[in-house]
Amino acid sequence: MKVHVCMSVRGALNWNKAELKRNARAMSDKDGNPMTPDAVRSALMDELAQGHEVIPLGECDNFDFKTGCKGHEDKDSNAVGEGRGTPRTSQPLGSAGGGK
Ligand SMILES: [Zn+2]
Repeated sequence: MKVHVCMSVRGALNWNKAELKRNARAMSDKDGNPMTPDAVRSALMDELAQGHEVIPLGECDNFDFKTGCKGHEDKDSNAVGEGRGTPRTSQPLGSAGGGK
C-alpha cells in the first residue's frame, strides 16, 4: 500500500511570512510559473472555500480532500492476482487427491 503525502490547508494558512516565502518557492501555478507568497495564500483560501482541508503534494488519483490520500494498492501485488493471461485453476491438474 502506497500513500501520498498531503498538506493541511489550514496549517499552511497559518504559516508566517518567512515560512510562506520559503514554501512559495517550491510551488508553481498551473502553467508552471513560480508563485508569489500572496498567490499561494490566495490559492489556499480558494481550496478552503471549496471545503478542502488538505491538498495532495504530487500526483494522486485517490484523494479525499478531508482526510488525504486513501492509499493505493501496490502494483506488484496486483499483477500477481491478475495472472497476466495465465489460466488459473483452483487445483493443479493431476495432483487432485495426492498426498501431502
Ligand atoms: Zn495517493
